[in-house]
Amino acid sequence: MPLLEAVMRSVSGESGLYMPEKIPHMGDSFFRNIRGMSLRETAFRIIESLFGEDVASDVLEKIVDEALNFEIPLVSPGKELHVLELFHGPTYAFKDVGARFLAGMLGHFASNLRREITVLVATSGDTGGAVANAFSGREGIKVVILYPSGRVSRIQEQQLLRAGSNIMAIELEGDFDDCQRLVKKAFADRELNEKLVLTSANSINFARLFPQSVYYFYAWAQIEEKDKPVCFSVPSGNFGNLTAGLIAKKMGLPVSGFVASTNINRSVPLYLETGNFLPHPSFKTISNAMDVGNPGNFRRILHLYGNDLNRIREDISGFWFTDESTREGMKELYEKYSYIADPHAAVAYLGLKRQMEKVQCNGIFLATAHPGKFPEEVMKATGLNVALPGLHNGAGKESQHVKAPADFGFLKDLLYSSF
Ligand SMILES: *Cc1c(COP(=O)(O)O)cnc(C)c1O
Repeated sequence: MPLLEAVMRSVSGESGLYMPEKIPHMGDSFFRNIRGMSLRETAFRIIESLFGEDVASDVLEKIVDEALNFEIPLVSPGKELHVLELFHGPTYAFKDVGARFLAGMLGHFASNLRREITVLVATSGDTGGAVANAFSGREGIKVVILYPSGRVSRIQEQQLLRAGSNIMAIELEGDFDDCQRLVKKAFADRELNEKLVLTSANSINFARLFPQSVYYFYAWAQIEEKDKPVCFSVPSGNFGNLTAGLIAKKMGLPVSGFVASTNINRSVPLYLETGNFLPHPSFKTISNAMDVGNPGNFRRILHLYGNDLNRIREDISGFWFTDESTREGMKELYEKYSYIADPHAAVAYLGLKRQMEKVQCNGIFLATAHPGKFPEEVMKATGLNVALPGLHNGAGKESQHVKAPADFGFLKDLLYSSF
């Protein structure tokens, strides 16, 4: 499937789970030189190896530079214990990298198509903010974001409502499942898809997922003493981030293994244990961006390993944790290492710790959200008051804000009446 089609047809159904037929190997000279490369250069080389045939180098370079305009530091609280901080982007969630890269790619396609593209996305919180921010003010693209009324945090709602005039935030009278149901319905609606160029921005979209492979290379390059192999623990929900790590390994990154760390939404750790994948409705936890009972990228992981459970087990261990353990993890990180983690990062830390009891490795856990996004939990665990450094408001302009019933006809009319 050509890249444009894969990126555009990224609906939540079967056809959206695009995977490249061949994943390129980065080659030995790349790994010899990677230590001297900047984040942007590393990213460009990796992304070009996969997208270079479809998008001109100078365009790709610009998209990468715009997407990665913030730091991704590797911090080392302990010997052989490292944290890759992915939360220094404009919305303080790791979703910024993928969303910004996708926005750049779609912007490029919109100008080639000479047609306006409508991005439709349902959010329970973080995704919407990152997507709204990334697409803010982008020419040729309108973004429609559905979120459940009264169920996103104040900060998250602010990020949706102050993103710019090409963003429409629909506050739905319903829950997240209603939002998702309407979005699915829209993608399945023939008439709507004939009239509009409709695409999605969820993590099923390959152009949102793949740039995340970059972090793993970049983090690996910064570990100086490689007497022990490097292992990664990934706090996982929909499993896009972990899939990106597995792709990095396929591209030649010498990683000894990955840890799939989850909260009690544990269908993947249970699959690794029993060989049975049993999706379930999601349970609410304090690491709420990982409250996913049926991870959309699970089939991509199966595909990468040809459905071979034994090979999957060689590369991925799975551990899951309750909210109580998560709070203890936050406390321990602070007391032992003076490191302040948010609940998602704490889950990753706990998974890494379990792995390092079994396997000798230089451990890196991924911190996916700024602790200042979860001030109450941080206060409970550490007694500290943490705040966000300040909110970025996209273009600083108001979004379109509509309150709507959970009704498909209503949504359709909104989509037609251009804004
Ligand atoms: C989305 C998210 C995750 C889960 O990432 P997946 O790629 O869906 O597994 C973890 N932590 C935070 C803070 C997130 O926003």
